Amino acid sequence: MVDKEVDRRRRYTKATIVLITTLVFTFAASKLIMSSYEVEPIVKGPSVREVKRLSHYHPGIAGTPGDTDVYFLDSGTPGGTALMLGGIHATEVAGMLTSVLFIETAQVNQGRLIIIPHSNNSAFATQPAEDAFVPVFYIETGWGKRWFRLGDRLTNPVLQWPDPDAYAHYPSGQILSGSEVRNLNRAFPGRPDGLYTEQVAYAITQLIIEEDCDLVVDMHEASAMYPVVNVMVSHANAMDIAGMAAMTMDFEEGVYIGVEASPEGLRGLTHREVGDHTQAKVILMETANPIMDYVRGKATEELVVTGKDEFLLMAAERGMVTIPYDENGVPIEERVGRHSSGMQQILSIMSMMYPDSAIEVEGVPKHAELKEHGLGQFLKNPSDFSQEAL
Ligand SMILES: [Zn+2]
Repeated sequence: MVDKEVDRRRRYTKATIVLITTLVFTFAASKLIMSSYEVEPIVKGPSVREVKRLSHYHPGIAGTPGDTDVYFLDSGTPGGTALMLGGIHATEVAGMLTSVLFIETAQVNQGRLIIIPHSNNSAFATQPAEDAFVPVFYIETGWGKRWFRLGDRLTNPVLQWPDPDAYAHYPSGQILSGSEVRNLNRAFPGRPDGLYTEQVAYAITQLIIEEDCDLVVDMHEASAMYPVVNVMVSHANAMDIAGMAAMTMDFEEGVYIGVEASPEGLRGLTHREVGDHTQAKVILMETANPIMDYVRGKATEELVVTGKDEFLLMAAERGMVTIPYDENGVPIEERVGRHSSGMQQILSIMSMMYPDSAIEVEGVPKHAELKEHGLGQFLKNPSDFSQEAL
């Protein structure tokens, strides 16, 4: 009888321990998951006049993790309107960081700049399942470290799942592999009643039409072994600007960047569909990000920022890397510097060729300045600012 009572109590004690342990782990896991939805603070710089939500242009995404901030930098002086897109692919952090750099430092003297740092915001809250990425990385500054999220190339599957065996792009009908159904840069122009990724693309397309954008510049990164890297890919409607901007960047800054025409048969990308479906001229820029290379070693925080990888170096020594690559890696200053200089050259050339669409920007460091002083030198300390300034 006593034995039975002891046995019963033991079982209750064990069950209670299992229950408490489960609750503790569930609480910790839910905190970790919810923290990935937290957006890194961005300081509104001297020309930011307004911040809207992307859902303003398509209410279908309101209240979802894919809705995101749209920054309006307005000179108040008539001129053109340009849209900068960062984070269409959340792995390719140089585009997101260049967006932040422009928001915090740009003084717009003519026309308007509209900037979306996290274009596929839900992708910043997830990770590629097979790659063991770190969820955040840090940029060293004069006042400490500033944190940013590293995400996935594709929309968070929590919002769009399962993937089909094959993805038929709307409206072209082009067939791609199934997971590309969550690739925002295969979903343009999008549709209001489509899958989640198509709805985010639709919201951006509507913004471009409603805000009467003259120019869209979409900032990406690619594997250093990929042939289309350190390049501007231009829709036919912006070839004159891209060609001149690349030449000027090489001549004035000694930074070589190639120019390629957007292939007509490659559907769903900004440089194809935004040019075909809206009034805007479109250019996409690519820098190299070794974290995207399949031969690389561990995907560490340092690799995101330094681009230094011993295995990629071995590949480079065997002539398998398409850009100059040595033990110095491809640091974030090189990558953000290329996007910053490219963007500023594009704006100057557009202003010269199309004076009615002129946009004048100053105060943003270019390639040489970033390489000399480091990116962190130009980023603000969010804790120095009030909540309204963030
Ligand atoms: Zn990309």
